[in-house]
Amino acid sequence: MPFPRILTLTLPSPYEGEGFHTRAIFGFDVLGTNGWKVMLTASIEDYIKAIYALEIEDRKASTKKLAQRLDVRMASVTGMIKHLASEGYVKHMPYRGVHLTERGRRVALDLVRRHRLIELFLSRTLALTWDELHADAEVLEHAVSDSLIERIYEYLGCPEFDPHGSPIPRKDGSVAPQPGVPLDQFPIGAKGTIAEVSDQDPEFLRYLTKLKLAIGSIIRVRERAPFNGPILLDSGSETIAIGHDAASRIRVHSGRAGGRRKSHN
Ligand SMILES: [Zn+2]
Repeated sequence: MPFPRILTLTLPSPYEGEGFHTRAIFGFDVLGTNGWKVMLTASIEDYIKAIYALEIEDRKASTKKLAQRLDVRMASVTGMIKHLASEGYVKHMPYRGVHLTERGRRVALDLVRRHRLIELFLSRTLALTWDELHADAEVLEHAVSDSLIERIYEYLGCPEFDPHGSPIPRKDGSVAPQPGVPLDQFPIGAKGTIAEVSDQDPEFLRYLTKLKLAIGSIIRVRERAPFNGPILLDSGSETIAIGHDAASRIRVHSGRAGGRRKSHN
């Protein structure tokens, strides 16, 4: 039975080849089959995942952006970054922001894999729509065991993409690049297929559903107004005007995707 406590332990590192390692972590200790194992807590994991996402979006994670993304005070972020650096998950260089170390990146990719597999599982088994998936996956990704995640992966037929079109990191830590380019940068006149949408805001996903836009929809950019104005799209028999901000959260492949996948709808 896991029980909460604050620990400072010296124990074998969960990562091969790193030998013994001291960790001070707020968390749960669990007597697993391989002896004592310290699980990272949800909040530490959320920080690591947020740094990973910001590194993809902005090439680095700043204290300010982390505070905004996690909805916490700057002082809390500063304290946590110090802690994560002392644990070897991040490197923090003045004016260069926070970057994950290889160790931090492995934790992040494992979380992203869990998150995306859980979203696909909920969508396939319970037919939840794409706007209903994220919040529950945010919670479950921290709780589900490694073996259950691998069972889910096999049950789903070793999928490569989640219901929002995002690549699912593989177990070995490799991950396919984000598909396509943002719609607000897609060439005018070109035909493309919607390949990925941001999963962060359910309201945004419901808006796309209302516009009948989904993963696999074929679109053509007609016109892009200057000064970050709206983008006019042809989709099916309809012409849609979509704002710059919404367009930046949609990624489009050139041409037809050729039925590469159909993970949603
Ligand atoms: Zn999600």
